[in-house]
Amino acid sequence: MKKRIAVLGSTGSVGTQALDVLRNFKEQFELVGLTAHSSVSQLKKQAEEFSPELVGISGIKPDELPDQNWLTGPGVLQEIARMDLDMLLVSVVGLAGLRPCLAALRQGTDVALANKEVLVIAGELMQQTAREYGAKIIPVDSEHSAIFQALQGEKMDRVSRIIITASGGPFLNCSPEQLQQVKLTEVLDHPNWEMGPKITVDSATMMNKGLEVIEACRLFDLPPDRVGAFIHPQSTVHGLVEFSDNSILAQCSTPDMRLPVQYALFYPERGEALIEPVDFSQPFSWDFQPIDIQQFPAYGLAREALLAGGTYPAVLNAANEVAVEAFISNKIEFFQITEIVEHCLQTHAGQAGENLEELLQIDRWAREQAEQFNC
Ligand code: MG
Repeated sequence: MKKRIAVLGSTGSVGTQALDVLRNFKEQFELVGLTAHSSVSQLKKQAEEFSPELVGISGIKPDELPDQNWLTGPGVLQEIARMDLDMLLVSVVGLAGLRPCLAALRQGTDVALANKEVLVIAGELMQQTAREYGAKIIPVDSEHSAIFQALQGEKMDRVSRIIITASGGPFLNCSPEQLQQVKLTEVLDHPNWEMGPKITVDSATMMNKGLEVIEACRLFDLPPDRVGAFIHPQSTVHGLVEFSDNSILAQCSTPDMRLPVQYALFYPERGEALIEPVDFSQPFSWDFQPIDIQQFPAYGLAREALLAGGTYPAVLNAANEVAVEAFISNKIEFFQITEIVEHCLQTHAGQAGENLEELLQIDRWAREQAEQFNC
């Protein structure tokens, strides 16, 4: 029996790479649902190639639809998430993925998650929902996939800490003063990974690693002091797990998002290789160094929000989404991203953040604060 898969955000960076995986494993998987925000022509091509049962587009008006059978409007993602599926791959960016994730989990559908923000905003709610309905959340973020792979067959009470790696982004060797001056085009030019604009900016500020530390705490149910991040410019060692006997297991591969996608789709099996193997025919070295929070203050802010707990991570995420959008639209300078996030965290009076309504309300509050601070 083929596994029935739907992909939310199929025209984005992870989405197109996920479709490439599905294209290569047509015997194992059937793509039955697709959504995009507004990339009409690309979505049309994908729909023609895969002939899914449902296609949805959330960001255009019904009279602009190229095919009248397509679903449209704000509820599209949830509608696709509620299909009869074996797995929902969520590769939209930001808050938009939260309700569809919860809708799928509530049906007992496993979620392959490439949308780290939803775990930052509502990680506990997501895990609680997954447990209640007997569904799994399988990480597609490369570092978290690495940890998930290294944990197979191990007992969580024997894990002393986990470490995710960071490439360091394009500004690894810049001083804080140089970082004040950087321009949008320099930010969007990432050395190792092919990614969408939001995550590329987050990688340059190192907020991405901060969000990923929070994501890891939620996914693996570990306290902040047992989740570390280390700079590893070659992006080949993606994550490491240290056990009670101080033995460390690491997962390594060439940096290619198709591997974590493929691992999640095939889990608990493994498929045949799509990506290039690590080349051991030439001498090479793998470097590691700690993250300097003077150089990358956004990483420090994320750790502070994680320690403060409750609604602080949701505020961090919302303020960052607004600030990154403003930077991509050339409205603010690079260093202001971190200033806006810091302002919102300082202004916030934390709450427990136990239910969806409270979290969404705080999310809206933080977005307003961030936008006001911008002007
Ligand atoms: Mg990652």
